[in-house]
Amino acid sequence: MSVSLPPLRDVIARHGLSASKALGQNFLFDGQLLARIAAIPGDLTDAEVLEVGPGPGGLTRALLAAGADVTAIERDRRCIPALLELGEAYPGKLRVIEGDALEVDAPALFAERPHIVSNLPYNVGTALLVGWLTGAWQPWWQSLTLMFQREVAKRIVAQPGSDHYGRLAVLAQWRSAARIAMPVHRSAFTPPPKVMSAVVHITPIEPPEGVRVDVLERVTAAAFGQRRKMLRQSLKSVPGALDALDTLGIDPTRRAETISVADFVAIARTIPSRS
Ligand code: SAM
Repeated sequence: MSVSLPPLRDVIARHGLSASKALGQNFLFDGQLLARIAAIPGDLTDAEVLEVGPGPGGLTRALLAAGADVTAIERDRRCIPALLELGEAYPGKLRVIEGDALEVDAPALFAERPHIVSNLPYNVGTALLVGWLTGAWQPWWQSLTLMFQREVAKRIVAQPGSDHYGRLAVLAQWRSAARIAMPVHRSAFTPPPKVMSAVVHITPIEPPEGVRVDVLERVTAAAFGQRRKMLRQSLKSVPGALDALDTLGIDPTRRAETISVADFVAIARTIPSRS
């Protein structure tokens, strides 16, 4: 759908949307870059999309141009009139919700599973990601396409043996496929943040059977809480974990960062449910 819109910088000037540091506002203006981000989830024609933190609506424009039905949750009241204007250009395709995404009951907003596509403030992004990854499976969303600081993106997709490998990698990978879809240079943002960014794409996969999430979380918290220690030391505090290593033939002198996601899953599954 081809729609004529005023330049984003004009919208920002007209609505007085100077970037607020407190709200983690770093805006994207490059239409080509935004279109590439909106293309990461695949064909969005008439697909439900949740965008958290639309700001003045740069990414929102790209999602609407891709044919999506967008629900946008924005905390900054100043942005709402600009977003409502954008909605007028795409009748029936944009629903704007003023609120804090950490508090809004997002799943209740959708009848069918949305794609989530967002350029979020980094602190909020990690908190939302952990919430989205720890819920029931199949999750209520179809895919996640999220901008993160490059270092956080590396932690999400890290493999064993890497310094970035830790709880976030296990959480993101034990029942999802996670990849870095696109590096984004800091100069693409206005104002530019101090560090580089990357867009991460996550899709749910069939979960392994018989694993309790709380046990997996307890094991990874203990193992990576003392990541330089051998498992026989770091997992002492988790009842049944050392026996699980023995049963599985995992050498207890290994450190957490050498244990694959599949082995963490196996340890969690092997710990008896009374533990
Ligand atoms: N999506 C726009 C873009 O790409 O140019 C703006 C991105 S800016 C990094 C982050 C946006 O998230 C800001 O508009 C900010 O007001 C909004 N935001 C910050 N915290 C939020 C929260 N807890 N809930 C919803 N939106 C939030």
